[in-house]
Amino acid sequence: MSKVSDFDKFGVEAMSKDEHNGLQSSLNEKCLCAGCPSYVEGDENIAFCFPLTGASTAIKQEKGCMCDGCPVYKEYELTHGHYCTRCSQLCQTYKTELGAGHE
Ligand code: SF4
Ligand code: SF4
Repeated sequence: MSKVSDFDKFGVEAMSKDEHNGLQSSLNEKCLCAGCPSYVEGDENIAFCFPLTGASTAIKQEKGCMCDGCPVYKEYELTHGHYCTRCSQLCQTYKTELGAGHE
């Protein structure tokens, strides 16, 4: 049976608060969201793929996604997209793979 930790691409399960904050800042700097057609200003953080960022409170409409061209996407071998509206990599994986009962 798969565990959530198997899909924890960013390793957040074992991360301290300081490590989380440091990684959040680093991801924000590399993130392409601010140049995306779907992007709307209003969130404290971008890098919506990161599980602890949370989905956007400002972006409501999907008008395209730039995630698959992002260095973070390649570095962490991400597999989903539209993280701002659909929730993080871990959350979407949980819904589609664990939620569907795959092992
Ligand atoms: S998560 Fe994807 S769709 Fe959302 S703002 Fe970022 S690049 Fe655009
Ligand atoms: S993969 Fe998408 S949400 Fe994550 S840092 Fe890159 S552009 Fe931002």
